[in-house]
Amino acid sequence: MKQSKLFTKTSKDFPKDEVSKNAQLLIKAGFINKEMAGVYAYLPLGLRVIEKIKLIVKDEMDKIGGQEIIMSSLQPKEVWESTGRWSDAVVDVWFKSSLKNGTEVGFGWSHEEPITKMMKRFLISYRDFPAYTYQFQTKLRNELRAKSGIMRGREFVMKDLYSYDVDEKRHLAFYDSVKVAYMNVFKRVGLGDITYITFAAGGAFTKYSHEFQTITEAGEDYIYINKEKGIAINEEVFDDTVLAELGVTKSEMTKVKSAEVGNIFNFGTAKCDDMNFFATDENGEQISIYLGSYGIGITRLMGVVAEHFADEKGMVWPESIAPFQVHLISLGKDEEAQKIYDDLTEKGIEVLWDDRDARAGEKFADSDLIGIPWRVVVSEKSMAAGGVEIKKRDLAESEIIKIEDIDKKIK
Ligand code: ATP
Ligand code: MG
Repeated sequence: MKQSKLFTKTSKDFPKDEVSKNAQLLIKAGFINKEMAGVYAYLPLGLRVIEKIKLIVKDEMDKIGGQEIIMSSLQPKEVWESTGRWSDAVVDVWFKSSLKNGTEVGFGWSHEEPITKMMKRFLISYRDFPAYTYQFQTKLRNELRAKSGIMRGREFVMKDLYSYDVDEKRHLAFYDSVKVAYMNVFKRVGLGDITYITFAAGGAFTKYSHEFQTITEAGEDYIYINKEKGIAINEEVFDDTVLAELGVTKSEMTKVKSAEVGNIFNFGTAKCDDMNFFATDENGEQISIYLGSYGIGITRLMGVVAEHFADEKGMVWPESIAPFQVHLISLGKDEEAQKIYDDLTEKGIEVLWDDRDARAGEKFADSDLIGIPWRVVVSEKSMAAGGVEIKKRDLAESEIIKIEDIDKKIK
C-alpha cells in the first residue's frame, strides 16, 4: 500500500486522558482512534494487526477441531436468568437495554449461556458429541475503570471457544489440548517466553481455572512464578494449600505484574445441568453434558504486544502480526521504488511504501513509530552504494543489498 493513500497520519499528540502506553503509541501511529474511555476504533493499520492475530488463533482453534460461528451481541434476558447470571449483583459488567415493547435485552459480555442454549438444538444423542464451537466477537462490558488502553476496553474483541462432551475423560483431554493450542498462539505472537499458565480462581465448579498471564508492567494482575519449574499462581489463590498441591514453597516463588491474555474454565456438568441440557446414551437414558469455556482477549493481546516490544522510538511488531512486513522508504528514486514495490507485492510480501513528499527524517521517525519489521530505503546514496539499505526495526545496523536480493533477505 502506498502511504500517500493511507488516510491515517501519525501525530505527535494523543488524548490528554490517555495514560496507557499501548494506547498512546497506537493512537500516535494511527492504528486506533479513541472514541471514549475504553472504546476504540480500529483503523487500517490496527485492523491488519487484529486480523493477523485472529488468523493465528483461528489456525490453532481449527487444528483442535473448533468450528467457527458468530453469535449475536443482543441477548435475551431469559437465557441468563436460567443460570442466575442476569442479576447485576452477580455480573457487574452488564450493559442492558429494552426493546420498544419493553422486553429487556442484554449486550453480550460473554456467550456461555446463549451458545449453550443454541447447541441444545443440535446435540441430542451421545453420538453428537464432542462439539467444539468458537467465535470472534465484540464483547461489551461496563468496566468500572478503563485506564489500560486497548488492554481493558468497554468494547473489545474476544475469541471464545466452548466445548461440549458427554465423556469426562475426553472432555479433560480436550481441556488440556486447549492449553497447548493457547500457548502456541502466545508463542506465535512472540510472547511465549513470558506467558505462564497460571492457577487462578475457578468459580463454582472446579477449584482452579487456568489463566494465561503475560509478565508485563502494563498488566493489572499479580502472579507468583517459578521460572525453572514453570509454575505460576495468581495472587488471588496464592496460599499454603495451593503451594502444597503444586509441590513448591513460598520462598521459591517470585511476585511479578502480569496481564491476563487468556482464561479457560472447566464447568463440569453444572452449567448444562442448570440449563436443563442433557443428552441420551445408547439406551436412551438421560446423561449429563460437560462444558468447557475458553477465552483469549484478542485486542488485549495486541495491546500487550504493542507495549512489550516498544522502544523509545515506537512500536516493534513481531513479523507474525505486523501490519506489513516491509516499510519501503523512497527518497527520490521513485521509479526504482515502484519496481521494488511491484516485485515484492507480486511475491506475496506486504509492503507499505512511503511515497510521500516528505523529509527523510520525518519518514524515518514515522517508520520507527509504526514499527514494521523491515525497513528498506532506496535513495541516490543507496543506489550509488549498490542497491537498497535494509534494516531490521529492532537492530541498529543496516546493510546495502542488491534490489533483487530483498525478498531472499526477508525470508
Ligand atoms: P479481567 O479479570 O481482566 O477483568 P476477566 O477475567 O473478566 O478479565 P474473562 O471473562 O476471563 O475476563 O475473559 C476472557 C479474556 O478476555 C480475558 O482473559 C482477557 O484476555 C480478555 N478480556 C476480559 N476483559 C477484557 C476487557 N475489558 N478488555 C479487553 N480484554 C478483556
Ligand atoms: Mg478471566
